[in-house]
Amino acid sequence: MSTDVETTTLHHWIGGAPDATPAERSGEVTESATGAVVARVPFATAATVDRAVQTAAAAAAQWRESSISTRSKVLFAFRELVNAHRDELAAIVTREHGKVLSDAMGEVQRGLEVVEFACGVGEILKGDMTPGVSRGVDSYTMRQPVGVMAGITPFNFPIMVPMWMHPVAIACGNAFVLKPSEQDPSVSLRVAELWAQAGLPAGVFSVVNGDKEAVDALLTHPLVDAISFVGSTPIAQYVHATGSAHGKRVQALGGAKNHAVVLPDADLELAADGLVSAGYGSAGQRCMAVSVAVAVGDVADPLIARITDRIAVLKIADGTEPDADMGPLVSERHRARVAEYVDAGVAEGATLLVDGRALTVEGREGGHFLGPTLFDHVKPGMRIYDEEIFGPVLVVVRAATYPEAIDLVNANAFGNGAAIFTNDGGAARAFEQDVTAGMVGINVPIPVPMAYHSFGGWKASLFGDVHIHGPEGVRFCTRAKVVTRRWPDPSHRGVDLGFPTAG
Ligand code: NAD
Repeated sequence: MSTDVETTTLHHWIGGAPDATPAERSGEVTESATGAVVARVPFATAATVDRAVQTAAAAAAQWRESSISTRSKVLFAFRELVNAHRDELAAIVTREHGKVLSDAMGEVQRGLEVVEFACGVGEILKGDMTPGVSRGVDSYTMRQPVGVMAGITPFNFPIMVPMWMHPVAIACGNAFVLKPSEQDPSVSLRVAELWAQAGLPAGVFSVVNGDKEAVDALLTHPLVDAISFVGSTPIAQYVHATGSAHGKRVQALGGAKNHAVVLPDADLELAADGLVSAGYGSAGQRCMAVSVAVAVGDVADPLIARITDRIAVLKIADGTEPDADMGPLVSERHRARVAEYVDAGVAEGATLLVDGRALTVEGREGGHFLGPTLFDHVKPGMRIYDEEIFGPVLVVVRAATYPEAIDLVNANAFGNGAAIFTNDGGAARAFEQDVTAGMVGINVPIPVPMAYHSFGGWKASLFGDVHIHGPEGVRFCTRAKVVTRRWPDPSHRGVDLGFPTAG
C-alpha cells in the first residue's frame, strides 16, 4: 500500500557536501510501518565512487598528519552532536527500518559508545618501546593509518554498524567511505552532516549510496586500502574474496544462527524472558538474535509454556507507538521471504506452535508486519534450522543431554554468538571454553561486546582475521611499524660485517 507522503530525493556525500549528481539508476526507500515510498536513493556508478575515493585519498594524506589533539577535539565534538541529536537519529531509523523507537534509541547509544572509545585516541594509538635492545639502540612499535577505508553495511543497524567502523577508522588517521544499505540510507547522510559540523575536514568521511555496482567499484578501486563489511554470509564471502584478490585488507562479518542452550537447572523465567526478547526484538532482524532454543532434558515443555505466555502479550505495532514491543520487517520482499520459511517449516514436519503469518495491524495494512512465530520439534536438515531466517521466528530443538546440545551448536555452520542458561558454574565454564562462536552469553541472550571489547563471530559468520571496533578494530585500522634506532655516540664500534646481535 502507498499513502500520500512526500518522497525526498537523497544524494551522496562527497568532499564534505551533498553530491546530487543525477543518477542513472535509483531505488525506493519505504516507511516500513505503512509501505509508503518516502525517498528515492541514487545508485552510484563506478565514476561517482571514483570521485569519492579520489577525494578521500587526498583528504587522508592531510588527515594522517593531524595531531592527536586535533583528532580528539573533532571526535569529542562529534560525540556531543550525536548525543544531542539522538532522538532525531532514532526517528529516522524507525521510519525506514521499522524497529520500535526504544530499540532505535538503543542502537544510537551503542554507536555512541564506539565514538566514546575513539575519543580516547591518545590512549588507543600508544605504541610500545624497549630502550636498550643493544648498547645505545632502542626499538619501538608504532601504528600508522592504513589510508582509505571503505565500509559496506547492512540494513538492520543503519546507524550502529557504520559506527562500529568510521569513528575508529577516523581516530586512527584514515579517511572513510561508507556505502550504507540502500534500504535505509537516510540516517548516514545525517551522520555525515554531523561529522562536518564537528569540524572534520572535507573528504575524511564520505557516503556513496548504491548497490552491487558501487560495492564492486569500492572492492576493486586501487586507492581503497581496506574494506569492512557487515551483511549476509554469501555477500561477506564474495566481498572477502574480491577485496583480498585486489590486495586489500578485508574483514567481512556475515550472517548468524545463534543458539541458546537451556539446561534443566536454569532459571526458566530468566531464560524465557531472554529468549522472547532476543528472538523477537527488532522483529528478529539482529545478527545477535537468538533464533534457536536448545532445550536440554525435560526442560522443553515448561520452557515453551513460558515463551508462549510472553508472546501472547507482545504488542506488535508501528514502531513510533510508545508502547510497541515489535515493529514490521524492513520490506515487503523480506516479509514474504520470512513467511516462506514458515511455510517450509510446516511442510518439513516441524510443529508450528505460534503462527505470525496472518497478522495485520489496524490502520497499517500496508506495513511489512509478520507476528512472532514459534516452532517446536525442529531438527538439523530442515531449512528453518539450517538457514538464517532473519525474522521473528524462534525454533526449539530438543536435546537429551548437554553433550548432545554442544555438539549441535558446534556442528552449525554459523558461529556468531551462542548463549547458555544454567545455574551450574561448571557447565557454564565448559560451554564458554568449548563453544565455536565468537561471542558467548552466560544467562545473557545477546552477548554483545561493549565498545572497548571487539565484536565478531567465527566460522561462516566472519571472513578475515580480526573482529570489529575495540582493540581489534584499532589493529584493523592501522599498520604496525617497528623502528630500531641509534644516535651516534662513543659506543659505535665501526665497521662490523657480523650479523647484529644484542650486546
Ligand atoms: P546484505 O548482505 O544483503 O547487504 C549488505 C550490504 O551488501 C548492503 O550494503 C548491500 O547493498 C550490499 N550488497 C547486497 N548484495 C550485494 C551483492 N550481490 N554484491 C555486492 N554488494 C551487495 O545484508 P542485509 O540484508 O542488508 O543485512 C542482513 C544480514 O546482515 C543478515 O545476514 C545479518 O545476520 C547480517 N548482519 C551480520 C552482523 C554481524 O555482526 N555478523 C551484523 C548485522 C547484520
